[in-house]
Amino acid sequence: MNKSQVIQWLQNFATEIERNKEYLTELDAAIGDADHGINMERGFKKVASQLSSLADKDISTILKTVSMTLISTVGGASGPLYGTFFLRASAAVTGKEKLATEDLLKLLRLGLEGVIQRGKAQLGDKTMIDVLSPVVDNFQKSVDNNQTTLVAMQQVVIVAEQAMKDTIPMLAKKGRASYLGDRSIGHQDPGATSTYLMLKSLLAALES
Ligand code: ADP
Ligand code: MG
Repeated sequence: MNKSQVIQWLQNFATEIERNKEYLTELDAAIGDADHGINMERGFKKVASQLSSLADKDISTILKTVSMTLISTVGGASGPLYGTFFLRASAAVTGKEKLATEDLLKLLRLGLEGVIQRGKAQLGDKTMIDVLSPVVDNFQKSVDNNQTTLVAMQQVVIVAEQAMKDTIPMLAKKGRASYLGDRSIGHQDPGATSTYLMLKSLLAALES
């Protein structure tokens, strides 16, 4: 994955967020406070406006800038969590001019670990972790099997889509949705859904 594909990933994600703003907000209306799409759109609109000025920066700097922008603009639980994801992702690829498959694995793994540290959620708590964690496991398998980045990401998106749907029967144990107790069951988690969009956007950047 080269630098222009990283920029394309972020552009694609901003576009997906804009396209799914209402959908993400509806999901959050069911089990939260109806702002996930609005929060994410505010942040990624700002990110998208910065991308052209980031084109000559290195990958780590690009990701770090995204992190800072998200922390300062998104708000809610998801702002610091996505901010932490991109901050750790940035640190995972310091000095890299392009990302080998192992580098992308490290980016995703350290991003996941940052979100876990920051939010203290565990697998099955009905959060973005429920998509990120199986994705990192699957990506690790692909690396072990010497798959290309493209093939690894194609599998990741299939895993992520299923993992997103698997949040529907879960009982929320973290974030606002946890206040609902049993009533959180039967609804897809908004953060798990935006995380799926992030991974789908990454695949689209590799395919472009
Ligand atoms: P808020 O809940 O503050 O309104 P958002 O609506 O933007 O923030 O984001 C909600 C999403 O954040 C949830 O759907 C969930 O995926 C994610 N989330 C909330 N708390 C945590 C946590 N502790 N760890 C990981 N993800 C979390
Ligand atoms: Mg919310």
